[in-house]
Parts: sequence; C-alpha cells; structure tokens
Amino acid sequence: MIDSRTPPEVDRVAASRRAVAARRERAALKHDVAMRVITPQELLARALAEPDSPAGAMRITDFLTALPAIGEGKRDRILAALGISPVKKLGGLGVRQRVSLQGWLDDRFPPLAPRADRSRLIVLAGPTAVGKGTVAARVREHHPEIMLSVSATTRAPRPGEVDGEHYFFVDDAAFDELIRSGALLEHATVHNAFRYGTPKAPIEKALAEGRTVLLEIDLQGARQVRAAAPDATLVFLTPPSWDELVSRLVGRGTEDAEERARRLKTAKTELAAQQEFDYRVVNDDVARAAAEVASLALG
Ligand code: 5GP
Repeated sequence: MIDSRTPPEVDRVAASRRAVAARRERAALKHDVAMRVITPQELLARALAEPDSPAGAMRITDFLTALPAIGEGKRDRILAALGISPVKKLGGLGVRQRVSLQGWLDDRFPPLAPRADRSRLIVLAGPTAVGKGTVAARVREHHPEIMLSVSATTRAPRPGEVDGEHYFFVDDAAFDELIRSGALLEHATVHNAFRYGTPKAPIEKALAEGRTVLLEIDLQGARQVRAAAPDATLVFLTPPSWDELVSRLVGRGTEDAEERARRLKTAKTELAAQQEFDYRVVNDDVARAAAEVASLALG
C-alpha cells in the first residue's frame, strides 16, 4: 500500500528545486544590498509587502550582515538594542520591530536628500554598463527641449558615430588645448583609457536661454560638476540588480574578460558613491527610466 504521508518522489524533487531557487534568490538579494544596487530600506519594504517572497523569507541576521561594515558581533548588539529575536525573518517582523528597524536604517543609511534650489543643469551618472547612454538617448528623442551635451573625447569613433553629434572626436593635442584654455566644465580619463570632457560654452548658452541641459558623464565628471556648479542636479542610474549589471556587461561583448573584471571592480566603487547624488533612478526599463529622468530634469 502507498503511504499517503510520504509525498511522491516528483513532488519532493520539485520542492527541493524550489528551495534551491529560493535560496539562490535570497543570496542574490543579499549581494544586491552589499553592492548597494538596492538600498536596505528597499529590501525591507519588499519583504514587508510580500512576506512570502525571497526578501520576506530572509533572516534578519542575514539581512544585517549583508549591510556594509556589519559583522556578527555588531549584528547581535543591534538586534538586542532593537528588541528583535535573531530567528525572525524580515517578512515576519512585528509592527514595533519594523518601525525600530526602519528608524535605525534611516539613521545609518540616510535616504537621498535633494537640495531645494536647483539649476537646470542635470547630470546623469552611474556605474559602467548600466545603460546611461541608452537612457540619455531616449530622453533626447522624447524631449527635444532638453539639450543633451556633446562631449569631446580622444577615443576613435565607433561605426555609426557622427562627429559633433555623438562626440567631438579630437586628438590628444586638441584635448590638451581644450583643458588649457578652460573650455571644459569637467574632464576625466575613463576606464584608464581615453579622455572625455564637457564643453562649457554650449551649456552656459543653453542655461542662459532658460533651457534644461543633460550631461551623461562618468562619476569623476559628476563630482567635478558638483564642485563647479553646486546647484546642479545629480541623478544616479542603478541597475535593477548586480546580476543584471554583470549580464549587461558580458552581453555587450565589447570588452575582453580582463577588461570586464576591471570594469566590474570600478562599478562596485561607483555604486558606493550614490549617497553623493540627489536622486536615484533604477534602469529596469529604458522608457520608464528615461521618463523619470526627464521629469526630474523638467520638474
Ligand atoms: P563611451 O566611450 O562608451 O561612449 O563612454 C565611456 C564612458 O565615458 C561613459 O561612462 C560615459 O558616461 C563617459 N563620458 C562620456 N562623456 C563624458 C564626459 O564628457 N565627461 C566624463 N567625465 N565622462 C564622459
């Protein structure tokens, strides 16, 4: 006779596959928080909205040790101070525990606080391969009233790129001259390879005419703009997950393995800089992300 209490073999296999998949998803989420692709507050919000999701099933202990600079000793002191048992899962926190955890997170990882008086100069930056160029191009296509700045670069044009439209392609001597004459608002060597810089005059002219100007530049450039024009609005584009960023970089197929590894290392440090920005936009869908950037720019 078949024992009805023992699930059939197929069910057990399916259940164990699901358990493995759920564990993998929880690990990916922990990685996303550790790499700062998503904020701890976002992960907590997802867990509370869907207690049965991988986020909801994450143990509070795993959540806390995924946060930057929190080891096991610190974790246990935090849990004691917040009055949360170490066996709790994120999705199973009581109301008082949620509130105290949220308050603690907001103290330790302050949400971005955009300044009030902002100019019409918008900087779009973010880690390598996140899709800044695609989002900026989409903004230009749908919002011709926003001026997309054309940078100067020492790299050679790629097939299809037009001088004066995608970049001003210049040689090293001409780039040096742009710097020497003070013609650039900012400039940087990107990925240890070529130099890129933002011409100042067209931006000043457009801003004087009351237009909105969008710069799509790297993090070093964004920091220089912040220093030169503190009222600029800095928008940080993030990938929906770390795995997605890696697959976008690999999928692009334009870099070899060594170069990809180097860029991912750069991406990790770039992601850690997002607190310096005014807004964060997730590039989960190009059209949606571009619409959000445009509304921040025009808002
Ligand atoms: P690509 O060569 O693929 O067009 O661009 C490489 C990187 O250079 C991108 O991360 C892009 O954001 C950055 N970049 C493009 N123009 C500028 C610029 O004018 N200044 C700085 N700092 N970075 C730029």
